[in-house]
Amino acid sequence: MPANKKLLILPGDGIGPEVMREVRRVIEWMDRRRMVTFDVTEDLVGGASIDAKGAPITDSCMQAAKDADAILFGSVGGPKWDNIGFDKRPEIAILRLRKELDLFANLRPAIVFDPLVDASTLKADVVKGLDIMIVRESTGGIYFGEPRGVETLPNGEQRGFDTETYTTSEIQRVARVGFELARKRQGRLVSVEKANVMQSGLFWKQTVTALGAAEYPDVQLSHMYADNCAMQLVRNPRQFDVIVTSNIFGDLLSDLASMLTGSLGMLPSATLGAIQPSGKRHALYEPIHGSAPDIAGKGVANPLAQILSFAMLLRYSFGMDEDAALIEKACVNVLGSGLRTADIMGPGTARVGTGVMGESILRELEKLAA
Ligand code: NAD
Repeated sequence: MPANKKLLILPGDGIGPEVMREVRRVIEWMDRRRMVTFDVTEDLVGGASIDAKGAPITDSCMQAAKDADAILFGSVGGPKWDNIGFDKRPEIAILRLRKELDLFANLRPAIVFDPLVDASTLKADVVKGLDIMIVRESTGGIYFGEPRGVETLPNGEQRGFDTETYTTSEIQRVARVGFELARKRQGRLVSVEKANVMQSGLFWKQTVTALGAAEYPDVQLSHMYADNCAMQLVRNPRQFDVIVTSNIFGDLLSDLASMLTGSLGMLPSATLGAIQPSGKRHALYEPIHGSAPDIAGKGVANPLAQILSFAMLLRYSFGMDEDAALIEKACVNVLGSGLRTADIMGPGTARVGTGVMGESILRELEKLAA
């Protein structure tokens, strides 16, 4: 059993601390029952850190993040800090973490759990059993490419522009994450670009093709234009196993895919850095939802996205696949028993708050581990 893994917990703002509390209970349960000891530190980020320390993330917190084996992040932001100034806003915390830890591969699973199959806006027979993984390049591409700006042309008209740019190594490192994931899943990777109209898209396709042939001949690689991928995700999402794509296409496609599952409160994510010579890899795990200020402090938030983010952390940072699967199974069983937080209520289900949902997961873990 792995021991003393260094875990940094950053609950953040709004519902962040409420849903993170339920993860802490799962960690305590694992400490007690599964004999896994985590070396847990917790710190403030976002608005909470602005209020207490004057900055959305402190240098000492950044250092703790660099030292940690994995980071579990809640969410940051809220109306209280909306007018604080662009350079001081709570979101700087997550942007700084992503930048300084070079977290370039964003993993967004879209899974439809059987008990929630009717929560999707798509028909149940289209999404039943859905389990896809979208890998989005998250530190390059058009969101960061130079040149960018707004210029005035000789005729007095203005022109706004951004640059889509990817180097060989930037494409290879994110494609490797996609290939490796496909290897551990159903062995199928779809690389998504617009090679028909973009030079950088054609280069992306050629680079991924060459990498696949050289290093991953066992993975079934195919290519798809981004617009077709959007259509296919709605038409027949189960055709996909792993998708790898650029920053901007991944941004759009992963949001689209997440809605196939029906609820923000259910969706975890991971963002990974490069594997260092020591074998260590920076990694941050967070729910895809925000700080939900409209329900913060009411005890009604769904803690499952945060708990499932912790399960992803166990799987991808610590190789604890069995423990991750146990937590995921506990979540499915509790949903199967008909308990629901308000965001995922359906006919014939019973409404519970954050704490009761957390307790129910613990009880189910007890049962499963008995
Ligand atoms: P949001 O995800 O916080 O909320 C959208 C809607 O979903 C709200 O009605 C909310 O109540 C509901 N919701 C979200 N999570 C839920 C949960 N776990 N259980 C039940 N209901 C849930 O998005 P928003 O309202 O656009 O943003 C609110 C704040 O969060 C903003 O300040 C935004 O900047 C911030 N935000 C932060 C992150 C992050 O920290 N990574 C991500 C997105 C938004």
